[in-house]
Amino acid sequence: MSANSRTAMLPGSFDPPTNGHIDIIERSACLYEKLYVVVADNVQKQCLFTPDERMEMLRQILQSHQNIEVVSYRGLVVDFAREHEVGVMIRGVRALVDFGYEFELAMTNKQLNPSLEVLFLPTSPKYFQLRSSAIKEMAAYGADISPMVPPLVVQMMRKRIKLLTL
Ligand code: ADP
Repeated sequence: MSANSRTAMLPGSFDPPTNGHIDIIERSACLYEKLYVVVADNVQKQCLFTPDERMEMLRQILQSHQNIEVVSYRGLVVDFAREHEVGVMIRGVRALVDFGYEFELAMTNKQLNPSLEVLFLPTSPKYFQLRSSAIKEMAAYGADISPMVPPLVVQMMRKRIKLLTL
């Protein structure tokens, strides 16, 4: 087994992190010696939280896991993988609609970095409907999002939405 195949990454926007994200991260971390959670610093995507805020939330939520490192990255995930000797990229899939998109992305990434393997991990049934975009919308209309995100995210969302509606 090469060093690369013992290190995995799980990239995403995490805007904000949900219980579905945390579940997939924790399950992935059990499979590898080291897991990078890579917060996309994507200039084209409008996010509710800055990359630093998303990274800080994930760091606090995941602080008890010694083999998880949360970082942010501006650039292609395949380049992050090369720079950090990552052999495996994990993507969570919730439903068939995710799969079509993820499959195309995997094909593109394989062309860009043939040594990076992509693995799809199905969501846990209780989280299959959780989506950051839907959670932001529900929170904006005052719905209780506490069953869907960690307590720290509930607090951060309350503060951010209050600021936006002032
Ligand atoms: P989204 O905005 O759709 O929640 P992200 O880019 O933040 O997506 O997701 C990062 C990774 O986490 C992706 O691989 C995504 O498929 C996965 N993911 C997101 N929500 C869930 C969930 N509820 N269950 C499993 N995986 C998930």
